[in-house]
Amino acid sequence: MSIQKNLHYINSLLPKHVTLVAVSKTKPIEALQEAYNAGQRIFGENKIQEMTQKWEQLPKDIEWHMIGNLQRNKIKYMAEYVSLIHGVENLKLLTEINKQAKKHNRVINCLLQIKIAEEDTKAGMTIDEAKTIITSDDVLEMKNIKIVGLMGMASFTDNKDQVTHEFSSLKTIFEELKTDNKEFKTISMGMSSDYKLAIDHGSTMIRVGSSIFGARNYNK
Ligand SMILES: *Cc1c(COP(=O)(O)O)cnc(C)c1O
Repeated sequence: MSIQKNLHYINSLLPKHVTLVAVSKTKPIEALQEAYNAGQRIFGENKIQEMTQKWEQLPKDIEWHMIGNLQRNKIKYMAEYVSLIHGVENLKLLTEINKQAKKHNRVINCLLQIKIAEEDTKAGMTIDEAKTIITSDDVLEMKNIKIVGLMGMASFTDNKDQVTHEFSSLKTIFEELKTDNKEFKTISMGMSSDYKLAIDHGSTMIRVGSSIFGARNYNK
C-alpha cells in the first residue's frame, strides 16, 4: 500500500470532528513529502531535533505537533514554529513553554497528558494534578500558552475491554475539566492499533504512524 492510499483510507473513516495527525517520526523527508502531496498538513514527531530539521526542509504550511516526552532544555528549539504540544506532564514544562513562546511573541497550544494506562511506563498526570494546573493562578497568568485539551495513551494490550475502559476514562476526565476551562476542545487519543476504538469513545484527534508510513525501523 502507498502512503497516499493509506491516508485516503484512514480519512474515509474519520468523522468531521476528528483530526488526523500523521506520525512521521524516524521517516525520511521523502515520505513526509509524499503525504504532503496527498493533502496531509499535520505531522507529529517525538524528537525536537528531528522535527526541527524536517520543519526547515518542508513547506511552511505544515502544522508540527510534538507528541513525545519533553526535555525542558530543548523546548527553545521548537518554540518558533510548533503548533501543538501533546505531552505536557507538569507545571515546570508549561512554565518553560510559556517563557520560550514569549520570546517569539507566540501562543503555543498545549495538551495535558493524563495517565490512563495501567502500565508504569506510560507517562502522565492524574485528574487532580491536571485540575490543580488548570486552575492555578500561575498558569492563568501565562499569556503565551493555551491549554486546549488532554492527551492519553492506552495500554499496549490486545484486551479491547481494557483499552475501551481507558479511553472512556479520558473522555470522562475531559468532560469534568472542561467546566474549569472554556478553551478545552481536544482529546488526543488513538494510534494505529486502536484509533477506531478511540473515535468511538470520544477522541477528537488521532495520532497515526505505522498505518500511514509502514513499520518503523529504529536500527538505522
Ligand atoms: C509513535 C507514536 C504514535 C504512533 O504510533 P503508531 O502505532 O505507529 O500509529 C502515536 N502517539 C505517540 C505518543 C507516539 O509516540
